[in-house]
Amino acid sequence: MMLKDSVGIVTGSGRGIGRAIAVNLATAGVKVVVNYAGRSDKAEETVELIRAAGGEAVAVQADVSQQADVDRLIKTAIEKYGKIDILVNNAGITRDTLLLRMKEADWDAVLETNLKGVFLCTKAVSKGMLKQRSGVIVNISSIVGLSGNPGQANYAAAKAGIIGFTKSVAKEFASRGIRVNVVAPGYISTDMTGTLPEGTQADILKGIPLGRIGSPEDVANVVRFLVSPEASYITGQTLSVDGGMEM
Ligand code: NAP
Repeated sequence: MMLKDSVGIVTGSGRGIGRAIAVNLATAGVKVVVNYAGRSDKAEETVELIRAAGGEAVAVQADVSQQADVDRLIKTAIEKYGKIDILVNNAGITRDTLLLRMKEADWDAVLETNLKGVFLCTKAVSKGMLKQRSGVIVNISSIVGLSGNPGQANYAAAKAGIIGFTKSVAKEFASRGIRVNVVAPGYISTDMTGTLPEGTQADILKGIPLGRIGSPEDVANVVRFLVSPEASYITGQTLSVDGGMEM
């Protein structure tokens, strides 16, 4: 599958890493469905960036943790562009706190968006991909899903869950021409990480061998490789994009 004239959905692409992925794929010729939860202003900005660069995109609000919303997202994508070749499950949230203070609602919110959302979106696109016998899915996990992190038991569980989910689905779909991989970012500069105190950011920097915080584009470049024909012999893998942080 060449990227030009293919169709991709990037969940949570109004801002941050998702936006960089949407813009990067659009630049390679992918028609992009820009999904978001509530910030329509940000999603429209992503669409404008893509159009200004000569690409095609449409913004669709949908909460990935809700079956009805996901069904509407897929239906809208197919009505607009006729098929789905690429799914990037990027939407994610944090509700960080130490386990003893973690409320059931903190657990549920993170698992529902970060893990159930991946299940719902993957299942919803897979029907069409199985029929066309082609497709690529990239799930955005985190190095925290590999290493764990104090204060992020809910988030780490969801991100580790994505890795097990991906390997299972990659095995189920491989014979049908569908590849499924994980990208595990390290510390990337976005709204999600912008709220950390400056001292914490400086400590994190000390633990990054390549000596800098990652950019959303660092992640987007790897996602574009994984969805491209150059990666046609790669499935079920987890690729860390973390400046060496987790090794
Ligand atoms: P971000 O800047 O906070 O953006 C999150 C995006 O997800 C927004 O577009 C948001 O939509 C969307 N979203 C949240 N909940 C959603 C839902 N239920 N349904 C649909 N969309 C939803 O986050 P980010 O830093 O770019 O992170 C993107 C992904 O990378 C996440 O999965 C995150 O866990 C992962 N990651 C990030 C880092 C990092 O250092 N930043 C590291 C490792 C992994 P609205 O704009 O409408 O709110």
